[in-house]
Amino acid sequence: MGGSSTVTAIESLPLRSADEAFLGCQRAVVVAPHPDDETLGCGGAIALLQQRSIPVHVLVMSDGTQSHPDSKSYPADRLRVQREQETCAALKGLGISEPKVTFFRWPDTAVPGLGDQDFATAVDLCSESLQRCQPSLLFVPWQHDQHCDHRATWQIVQQAVSNWPQPPRQVVYSIWGDRAAGLPALPPGETGWRLDIRAVVAVKRQAVMAHQSQTTDLINDDPSGFRLTPAMLNNLIQPWETYLEVK
Ligand SMILES: [Zn+2]
Repeated sequence: MGGSSTVTAIESLPLRSADEAFLGCQRAVVVAPHPDDETLGCGGAIALLQQRSIPVHVLVMSDGTQSHPDSKSYPADRLRVQREQETCAALKGLGISEPKVTFFRWPDTAVPGLGDQDFATAVDLCSESLQRCQPSLLFVPWQHDQHCDHRATWQIVQQAVSNWPQPPRQVVYSIWGDRAAGLPALPPGETGWRLDIRAVVAVKRQAVMAHQSQTTDLINDDPSGFRLTPAMLNNLIQPWETYLEVK
């Protein structure tokens, strides 16, 4: 401590067009801890990649069933199906006519992280999927995100690509930042850029709303249920997407 750590405002990060940002990209994989993170974090990128005919495969780690743990109308099995359908609907909204999604269905809030019993299995499964997709660009959640599943997902992916002779380029997105929705500023030591998504931000907003269990009263019998509030959505949906990337 004692040193002055400079905090970079997100708005001061360089703005890149999709053509600059995705130069040379042949195949992309978006790794989402929960069904909705793919759209909240990378919806604009997915739409812009799709417009450039660059295939996108999505890996979803958890089953998403802890968003409404006490609902009687949506017990875990029904909620899981609902959330998987919402992810596919969101991806269709982003322009992918036949979404390619792999759902690993790890229990929500218990995606195995480093040191957990199922970590090696999670790494193996993730590794198999990545080997199949052979992405040149990989979207992963932030290692310090304020949600255990997001951090575990980052750990799984790092382990899965650790022995690739040529690991894919990785760009990192933050959903919950280090305290609230969105990353208010860049943490010390991190660097990144912003993807200009103005051309598709309306499409992204529509796609986010396809996650009806998270954005509407669809499930109204669980007072403890999670809701993406309008304030959170305003933080999360901007005319740009922020990506952290170490060269
Ligand atoms: Zn999440």
